[in-house]
Formats: sequence, C-alpha cells, structure tokens
Amino acid sequence: MTDPRLRRTAWHRRLARRAAARRELFTVLATYPPGAVPCMGGSPVPSSHWTADEPELQAVAARACTGCPLREDCAAFAEVAPVEAGVYGGTSEYDRLPHRLTECYQQDDAPRRASNE
Ligand code: SF4
Repeated sequence: MTDPRLRRTAWHRRLARRAAARRELFTVLATYPPGAVPCMGGSPVPSSHWTADEPELQAVAARACTGCPLREDCAAFAEVAPVEAGVYGGTSEYDRLPHRLTECYQQDDAPRRASNE
C-alpha cells in the first residue's frame, strides 16, 4: 500500500530496487550450508575481510570470491547497490567508488529536483 502523501521519485524507486535485490540475494545466500561460500567460512580468508574498512583487506576478500557459486548474482547486486559497504561479487566498495559517487549525487539531487517540479 502506498501513502499518497509520499512522492515517488526515482530516488525512492532506486532504494526500493536495492532493498529488494538485497533481500533476494541474502535469501538465496541463507540456503547455502556454512563453508559453501567463501565469505561464510568457505575460504582461508577470514570472513571479517569482506566488511573490513581497509582497502587491502577487502582486495584480498574480493579475490577470494573467485569460485563462489553466487558470484554472478552477487556481482549483479553490487551493480544495483554500489553504495553497499564491503565486498560483493568480487568487487570491493573501493572498486565501486565511481558508481558510489554517482549514486550519492543522484540521491542528493533527486529530492531537490522533485521539489522544483
Ligand atoms: S561472491 Fe558474494 S556471496 Fe560469494 S563470496 Fe563473494 S561476497 Fe560472498
């Protein structure tokens, strides 16, 4: 149900798309047994590297995504949600920085554009 007082901008639609993609990815991820996916214990690389702040650690994690059964889907999610922190589909948040900046600009710009319409 949609509240008619809320304007649906491109920004809102993008947030909804990203939330749906995240839900979908994590629902499938939860069906894999522990150790079947590199970021969930299926790699000698510690799971904490996938969400580390340090670019070097994320780069190690991104390389460890190779061979993950979900890599393609995870990479597709990273394209829809470049602002997500951490490693997805073999790309670190630093690899996605150009897309993240574009996304941030669009997020800031969308409400202003909507109010000028
Ligand atoms: S591709 Fe995605 S699910 Fe697979 S190890 Fe990398 S981050 Fe985890």
